[in-house]
Amino acid sequence: MRIAVLGAGITGVATAEWLRRDGHEVELIDRIEPGDPRQTSFGNAGILAANAVVPVPVPGLLAKAPRMLLDPDGPLFLRWSYLPRLLPWLTRFLAHGRLAEVERISRMLGALVLDSVDQHRRLAEGTGAERHIGDGHYTFLYPDRAAWEKDKLGNRLRQEAGIRCETLDRAALTAADPELGPDYGFAATFRDSGNVTDPGAYTAALFAHFIREGGRFRRAEVEDVRPDGEGVMIRAGGEEIAADRAVLAMGAWSGRLAERLGHRAGMESERGYHLMLENPSHMPPGPYMLTDRKCAASPMEGGLRLAGLAEFGGLAAGPSAAPTALQRRAVRRLYPRLTWEGESVWLGHRPSTVDSLPMLGQAPKAPGVYFAFGAQHLGLTMAPKTGRLIADMIAGRPPNIDLADCRVGRFD
Ligand SMILES: Cc1cc2nc3c(=O)[nH]c(=O)nc-3n(C[C@H](O)[C@H](O)[C@H](O)COP(=O)(O)OP(=O)(O)OC[C@H]3O[C@@H](n4cnc5c(N)ncnc54)[C@H](O)[C@@H]3O)c2cc1C
Repeated sequence: MRIAVLGAGITGVATAEWLRRDGHEVELIDRIEPGDPRQTSFGNAGILAANAVVPVPVPGLLAKAPRMLLDPDGPLFLRWSYLPRLLPWLTRFLAHGRLAEVERISRMLGALVLDSVDQHRRLAEGTGAERHIGDGHYTFLYPDRAAWEKDKLGNRLRQEAGIRCETLDRAALTAADPELGPDYGFAATFRDSGNVTDPGAYTAALFAHFIREGGRFRRAEVEDVRPDGEGVMIRAGGEEIAADRAVLAMGAWSGRLAERLGHRAGMESERGYHLMLENPSHMPPGPYMLTDRKCAASPMEGGLRLAGLAEFGGLAAGPSAAPTALQRRAVRRLYPRLTWEGESVWLGHRPSTVDSLPMLGQAPKAPGVYFAFGAQHLGLTMAPKTGRLIADMIAGRPPNIDLADCRVGRFD
């Protein structure tokens, strides 16, 4: 079949590559090259978060949100002028924070992330991209044991999903990382996770392999996709392109086309930031989550990357200063004596749906089009499995997991 994959971030590239391996004629279409800093897939924290079964909205978030917004060290930011546009999405997002919903969402997330390191290794093997996969264990840092114990729901959901963790006291932590600041006295390490040491280079390397093996790339703005007889018609860069199938994988920008096809996407950009410190005097032994700042500190090929936080302000507005200022304070808290030589700041757009689950599968109102977007904070982690599942569906192979909770049309 001729298949067009619309959007060439990590989700689109992984999907295109699995479809190519199935013997299809695949064309990736994007307005920028894979690996470009304007992709969300470029600047993330690089964590293959096989432990990430806890969605952002949980019981009690609504009560805590105003305090988080007013606290300069809180992980949540809002462009107030954007609030009227955000409200309908935000109301639905918070409504999914009920306990029964969180448990349902958690089970689905588990099916998508638990084997993510293995999924990445299978996608990357023999492509050249495997050199960017590390086995950096993901460690959650807490001020003390009580702070860890306080996350009863998170600990329970991870335990129910069969996720193993090892706890460390301050002595064990500083034995592994002597520069660690005094504010962190306890940790939980997840050994089944991994990391990508340069997410932009990883996407670019997978893409280069796809092209070497006969995949095609068209650099163009995708303007439309619609059903056309048994297949689909795509308009990109002013040209009409006929294909048998199309995959919509345009990350946070997917909502407009999804809605033109008659399906509500329930999508919002959850903006996130990174602060990259070049040539730091010290590196963590693996990626950390600073649980009190909701910010990751990840050792990368280009330096130490502080990445995370959530800001609502839409796709068009430029970066705000406050999230980066928080990340600078967070570095000092993590490593009080750290020095570095240069730095860069980045803003990206997480594709977040109201129920924290991706849209995966065939669009009922446009059967030639498959949706593959909405992996929110976990798009890197989930990308290879997303690609395999879409390839299975297009080939008519029944996926080996129940994807009902991710079905297209669930918000219509
Ligand atoms: C600060 C931060 C930290 C994160 N950390 C992690 C992490 O540690 N682990 C993890 O798993 N995830 C993480 N994420 C989330 C992850 O980065 C995203 O979920 C993932 O990159 C989304 O990939 P994507 O391919 O769907 O979207 P993108 O990478 O955004 O790609 C979408 C592509 O679609 C293209 N496109 C859009 N509209 C059009 C159009 N009209 N025409 C042509 N092309 C178009 C864009 O140009 C872009 O290339 C993080 C995100 C942020 C912001």
